[in-house]
Amino acid sequence: MSNGTRIDPEEREPRAIKIRQPKHRGRKIVFSVLAVLSAVLVIGAGVFAYINFGDYFEFDKFGKTAEESSSSESEAEIPEEPESVPEIPEEPEVPEEPEVPEEPEVPEIPEEPEIPVEPVPEEPSIPKDEWFMILVNRENPLPEDYSFEPALIDDMGHSVDSRIAADLSAMISAGESEGLDFVFYTAFRTIEKQKEFFEAGTTDAAPGTSEHNSGLAIDIGCATGNFVGSPEEAWLLEHAHEYGFILRYPSDKVDITGFEHEPWHFRYVGKEQAALIKESGLCFEEYLAQ
Ligand SMILES: [Zn+2]
Repeated sequence: MSNGTRIDPEEREPRAIKIRQPKHRGRKIVFSVLAVLSAVLVIGAGVFAYINFGDYFEFDKFGKTAEESSSSESEAEIPEEPESVPEIPEEPEVPEEPEVPEEPEVPEIPEEPEIPVEPVPEEPSIPKDEWFMILVNRENPLPEDYSFEPALIDDMGHSVDSRIAADLSAMISAGESEGLDFVFYTAFRTIEKQKEFFEAGTTDAAPGTSEHNSGLAIDIGCATGNFVGSPEEAWLLEHAHEYGFILRYPSDKVDITGFEHEPWHFRYVGKEQAALIKESGLCFEEYLAQ
């Protein structure tokens, strides 16, 4: 089609030029020749292209190579792209995933601090305010209003605080079941009796400073002879704590207790505390001072 449009106008011009401007006839001829040559080159180029690349043109027509060359197909796809454009604003919805703040819930670390809690229960608390833990010595006399309910423990008139009578009876019975024979030398001693003995010089413990005034102490002997070195003494040293009693005045604690060694004097402090005191190796004053 392009060939016809270029050839026709040039064939017409020479006719018009002959009539109107004969003076420039030579220049027109040159232009005409150039136009013809250019037309021939264009036609030749078209024929050459058709011969050499005709196959591609035919494929384009039948759409066999649509994926590669055809520019017309790529242009048709452009309008489809704008359809994907509106999807872009939907992507901004991603920032709505602020799930990050939920991760801070991982603070499981504070559970580790439970480690320091373990050593705490290992330290036994001393029930210093309990009635069976009252400290009575030369520096700590009993309160004037101190009182308790006494209970007889034999037919000799000996009595103790009724709250320790059962454990004392159990201890004596356990020893007797093994062939031992115990007697009580001294148990509860009233303040009045303590005053009488103290004034007579029978004891060096002033009224209220002897554990015998509390009803929690007892002097034990054996019916067969000397208590020191007897099987009864050996048995008490090994088992008294099992019934809540401790050897109150050990030979190596005289400077602390303020009393000479009394192998027969036992003091009630309860089974739990008696075991702890015996295990510690401390006298009652040292144990309470912890
Ligand atoms: Zn005593």
